[in-house]
Amino acid sequence: MHSEDARGLATRAIHGSNQRDAHGSPHTPIYNTTTFAFPSTADLLYVVDGMKPGALYTRYGLNPSIFALEETLAGLEGAELAWAFCSGMAAETALFLTYGQDGIVCIGDAYGGTLELLATQLPQLGIKTHFILGSELSRLDQLLAEGPKLVFFETPTNPALELFDIRAIAAKAHIYGARVAVDNTFASPVNQRPLELGADFVVHSATKYLGGHSDLTAGAIMGAKDLLLPIWSWRKNLGSMIAPETASLLSRSLRTLVVRVRQQNASALAVAEAMARHPKVKRVFYPGLPDFSGHGLAKTQMHGFGGMLTIEVAGDGEGATRVADRLELFALAASLGGAESLVTQPCTTTHHGLTPEERARRGISDAMLRLSIGLEDAEDLIADLEQALQ
Ligand code: PLP
Repeated sequence: MHSEDARGLATRAIHGSNQRDAHGSPHTPIYNTTTFAFPSTADLLYVVDGMKPGALYTRYGLNPSIFALEETLAGLEGAELAWAFCSGMAAETALFLTYGQDGIVCIGDAYGGTLELLATQLPQLGIKTHFILGSELSRLDQLLAEGPKLVFFETPTNPALELFDIRAIAAKAHIYGARVAVDNTFASPVNQRPLELGADFVVHSATKYLGGHSDLTAGAIMGAKDLLLPIWSWRKNLGSMIAPETASLLSRSLRTLVVRVRQQNASALAVAEAMARHPKVKRVFYPGLPDFSGHGLAKTQMHGFGGMLTIEVAGDGEGATRVADRLELFALAASLGGAESLVTQPCTTTHHGLTPEERARRGISDAMLRLSIGLEDAEDLIADLEQALQ
């Protein structure tokens, strides 16, 4: 089992798949096929009835390129199993439909698409959803007592990099028989492994750090086998399977995940320190800075502080827009986790749909700029920010 794999993360990222290619390819080739043939009906039935693992039909996930990816994904999060999806939202949807039917509690800020799904669409299916901010965590007991069986949160959050204590929330949720799912997109398994801290599920937008090159859209859920098996049927019938080409591209990206993220951690810290000293920057939100509110918790539950940081420029939202527009190396784009550094002003993108009052309630000011630190030289990124802040 991967959860017992004592090898290091970088080794697991490269040797995490048990698939062996018949021709000796060091990695599983793209099985660009929808269906797989069997020598006999008896052989077919073994696979159909789940008595023997094997390739069968790609929408079911029974395709060697997808097996190889999922084995590596599971190993990275220390999970027994992983399921891959065509997007992060597809992964979340399958999770919520499988485990959220008795109600879902969402803690803290979350990605806009997640919030829309939880606040607007799932209630149309009769699923009750509840939202509490970090400042309202004392209400968690009372909410859980009402019966929701799934707790979902991101940590660190977007864009304020707020941290939640995975151990403490998991312990509390388990008292009420609720499961805990952590969206680990921002941290990546290099920096944080929620299952080791007591979470039941990890969810990823693999579009971000796992993919790492801004060239693929995918998602994943990792967890224990008995908990993941029910999700499999939802994925199959929602038709939200990852394509074999994307699975292969994602497997390729995972081989460099550890070196990429470690480099991004180091560069983000250098940028955060430079921005913290800059007279035109009012505040820096980065878990690696000793005076940041989440620093203590980050040291106990993270292995690295991540490649995401947010700066609040001195002045108003228009000033921040001017800085974003003047940046040359940072591309003005809403995603994250790629080799190219990106900048986004949350009030114009990820949180544009919220009223100014709601943004204020969530601690999101118009003068915030969220930075996704890429793989360029940190000195060049700092110089770019300095010229834009001039
Ligand atoms: N979770 C987080 C933290 C995200 O940032 C995103 C997308 O930006 C998603 C989930 C959704 O992922 P995808 O765009 O792959 O569907």
